[in-house]
Amino acid sequence: MEIIELRGCSDDELIVICQEIGLKRFRANQLFQWVQQKAVRTWEEMKNIGERDRQVLSSRLSLYPLEKVREQRSKDGTRKYLFRLGDGETIECVLMDYARARSRDRQTVCVSTQVGCAVGCAFCATGLEGFRRNLSVAEIVGQVLDITHDVRKEDPEFQVTNIVFMGMGEPLLNYDQVLKAIRLFNHGQGLNIGMRRMTISTCGVAPKIIQLASDNPQVGLAVSLHTAQDEVRNQLIPMNRRYPLDQLMAACREYTRVTHRRITFEVAVTAENATREEAEALARLLDGQFGHVNLIPVNPVVGTGMERPNLEQIKKFAQVLEDAGVSVSSREERGTDIDAACGQLRREWEGEL
Ligand code: SF4
Repeated sequence: MEIIELRGCSDDELIVICQEIGLKRFRANQLFQWVQQKAVRTWEEMKNIGERDRQVLSSRLSLYPLEKVREQRSKDGTRKYLFRLGDGETIECVLMDYARARSRDRQTVCVSTQVGCAVGCAFCATGLEGFRRNLSVAEIVGQVLDITHDVRKEDPEFQVTNIVFMGMGEPLLNYDQVLKAIRLFNHGQGLNIGMRRMTISTCGVAPKIIQLASDNPQVGLAVSLHTAQDEVRNQLIPMNRRYPLDQLMAACREYTRVTHRRITFEVAVTAENATREEAEALARLLDGQFGHVNLIPVNPVVGTGMERPNLEQIKKFAQVLEDAGVSVSSREERGTDIDAACGQLRREWEGEL
């Protein structure tokens, strides 16, 4: 009989499984809450489910919490976790700005969706490693559950309020698992995170952006644009050769036509690309889009050769966009004293083995 990962099950799937093994429907509800809301990591912690029922359930359902291999804490409160999966692969996950977030009611977790990544962006430590495999729903959800469990040991009221799919991997290339994870995060008997408090970040998988528009889960969409020039983007984000800027912009227009939701366009600013010409080209490209530009000063990543721009360069770049009528902001820097760029912690850890 197939063993199913408990953390990846919806409440409906658990009801069916309970019926199949002769347990009452309410057991499914209890199980769902223990796992998805209370973030328990073992069967023994499920106090209102008797030992006999737990044994029957564990014959059909596996419960594998992620193993915390390493944790880094930044001065600003950002916590970066390296988790080991059941097959020995490792992934990163970040709780952003925890200390300050405590006073402003916003706890954001950045999750990974793949082990490695096939896209191979030039500025990304994960991309340098190549693609290993997709994460299962249980592994995606498990990152948030295990961080919740970890932080609750010192802060019992801790609750994740926001999720960004911006960790390792391209979420739209693991589409079905990501959408299922979103529904689990959103469930009222689970973490109950509002759809609008979750954001998918993509490097520009145009057909999947259109599919997301029609599935319309009401989550936010962020597109890593980075440059308005195809030749440059081909180098930065090889996916651009498959879906060049005209196709990507058409998909974005379709997305906003169907969903009426504003897209965030992410632009990683390096010391080299923070020029007036680049900003003007971006403004022309985004003319007519319902979007907002988020400028991200690049964290230096060993092996990519990219340099961080200074504050003055960023200000001038933003001013050109603003003058052209493009809505723009600069992302707050987080965790710059730890290995905050995606994939860095994993690379360094593997290098030590
Ligand atoms: S930036 Fe995202 S899409 Fe690009 S290589 Fe890194 S993980 Fe993959």
